[in-house]
Amino acid sequence: MAGKLYLVPTPIGNLGDISRRAAEILGAADFIAAEDTRVTVKLLNHLELRKPMTAYHRHNCETAGPVILGRIQAGETCALVTDAGTPAISDPGEDLVALCAAAGVEVEAVPGPCALTVALSVSGLPTGRFTFEGFLPQNRKNRRAQLDSLADEERTMVFYEAPHKLRATLDDLADAFGPERPLAVCRELTKLHEEVLRFTIGEAQARYAAQEPRGEFVLVVGGRPAQTEEADGEAALARAERLRREGLPLKRAAAQAAEEFGVKKRWLYNQLAGQ
Ligand code: SAM
Repeated sequence: MAGKLYLVPTPIGNLGDISRRAAEILGAADFIAAEDTRVTVKLLNHLELRKPMTAYHRHNCETAGPVILGRIQAGETCALVTDAGTPAISDPGEDLVALCAAAGVEVEAVPGPCALTVALSVSGLPTGRFTFEGFLPQNRKNRRAQLDSLADEERTMVFYEAPHKLRATLDDLADAFGPERPLAVCRELTKLHEEVLRFTIGEAQARYAAQEPRGEFVLVVGGRPAQTEEADGEAALARAERLRREGLPLKRAAAQAAEEFGVKKRWLYNQLAGQ
């Protein structure tokens, strides 16, 4: 009989967050597939467990995946862990799950720590509907394309980001959504220096221009305000006219007022241009 693949979440900073069930499954599995066995051995030592481990990470997943699948099909149970958080969320675990699912092998997910849900829940932004964007593409053109596709997104958006790319990403977010858009910067969650800053994209740019970004980050960005009612449209038009009188070019006046009042930029531009 075929074995099973367990997806076992591990703490994202605080070792106390390993669940009893996660520990039991790690203890009972025939072997553990780990993103970095040196990281996982520390967790196993903490749990006083000794287990055979095999490496499964983005550089070997194409060859290691079928080997792990073969062992499971031969009857072994495998617990998949990553360095931190929930396997398959923005890490190569996704490929192993797809491989096992396609082969008809049972996959069971254990609930547990995940940077996405921790950040979203603490962000103070609407959580009823959200979109998880993971890491933005490295390539600038693809990043822009992904952000452009989110221009009208009304749901809260969640991004993972590395510290050395944070400043550039904040600049890209400001270009895409405007500096006034609400943002929660969630840093070092569950760790000693945990920090959640709830401000705007512009304020985040100013803060990290003055201070080197360090640690792990999740960015939670508020969605575009819901689409206009007629009254909002009129208020936006009045605001845009005022901005024009203050000397702002047509396009910028339309963009700024549209962002502030949550109306469509093009509609406002056309209204202004038609006057
Ligand atoms: N699968 C993991 C999960 O969902 O929790 C995420 C793996 S991904 C390779 C690593 C990214 O998760 C980091 O770059 C950061 O954006 C985020 N992250 C992980 N731990 C974090 C923490 N303690 N605080 C803030 N962000 C964290």
